[in-house]
Amino acid sequence: MEVYVLRLGHRIGRDHRVSTHVALTARAFGAKGIYFTKEDKNLFMSVERVVKTWGGEFFIKTADWKRLLGEFDGLKVHLTMYGIPLPEKIEEIRKARKVLVVVGAEKVPREVYELCDLNISIGTQPHSEVSALAIFLDRVIGQTFTLTFDNAKLKIIPSEKGKKVLKLGD
Ligand code: SAM
Repeated sequence: MEVYVLRLGHRIGRDHRVSTHVALTARAFGAKGIYFTKEDKNLFMSVERVVKTWGGEFFIKTADWKRLLGEFDGLKVHLTMYGIPLPEKIEEIRKARKVLVVVGAEKVPREVYELCDLNISIGTQPHSEVSALAIFLDRVIGQTFTLTFDNAKLKIIPSEKGKKVLKLGD
């Protein structure tokens, strides 16, 4: 299955840290790439630096959200605390060949609820786009603890204490 993320409503400056974490969570938990509705050069560069160092083919780019939601040829899933609990729809989602998962920042436009195939909640309490995305990807892709990345320059050797990092190239 291929999973892509759409980050809606990123506010330059204010959302820098959370949006960076959304992108890094997407990559680390197995999504192929992330679309932002606004270009943020510094943020894009810092995510691309992580990809260069830690490997993989993850992309970060801008997209017009209405066009992307109109043209995406797979299942569109909007994460919102108002939606249907993930366990009730997990089988349907796992059957999809391609998934676009949408997470918000500020208030999400009403249209998004209509344009997406599913509105899914990760619990019915307000929390964060980072935690919602992480749980969604873990449940749907299920490679959080097994995923490896090609072309990595660094690799962590899990250890009981301290930090062990293997250098694989320049
Ligand atoms: N106040 C905004 C609204 O009413 O649309 C939501 C802000 S919330 C901090 C940012 C994003 O986190 C949401 O757009 C949603 O994607 C995600 N999120 C937060 N809590 C969630 C939950 N319980 N289930 C699913 N997604 C959630």
